[in-house]
Amino acid sequence: MQNLGITKWALAAATVLLGAVWIGSMFRGVTWRGQQNGVVIFRGAIDLFWSTVGAGKQQIWWMKAYPSPIQWWVSRDSGSASTGPWESVCIPLWMAWLPVLVATGAVWRIDFMKRKRAKDLLCAGCGYSRAGLANGQVCPECGATMS
Ligand SMILES: [Zn+2]
Repeated sequence: MQNLGITKWALAAATVLLGAVWIGSMFRGVTWRGQQNGVVIFRGAIDLFWSTVGAGKQQIWWMKAYPSPIQWWVSRDSGSASTGPWESVCIPLWMAWLPVLVATGAVWRIDFMKRKRAKDLLCAGCGYSRAGLANGQVCPECGATMS
């Protein structure tokens, strides 16, 4: 029960965070560039790129605006730069966001049902557990009836 409480808030936070990154990436991109590879989060997608030949110096770019359209689907690309041939795979962020959203919804629903069930098993009058008592039977604690 307590673990589920942590899980549901962690999932909710992940949903909000991923959603924010996804939407934010449509306006501004973030690039991390290594020796032969790099990651760009932009255009609503995460773009992994690598080249077969060692490339330029390592650098990080923040908040660079991209005019390119939003990426909705997985795409592969390749080309040639001054440093040599390169390849890239582009994965739209909604594909990562959607399962997290669905999982969050499921966990919140399970948690809600659990709470509701626990509440239904308690006497409305005094909160005493009615587990094992039939509907309509009076509460052994306060004598309240429950339909
Ligand atoms: Zn009672």
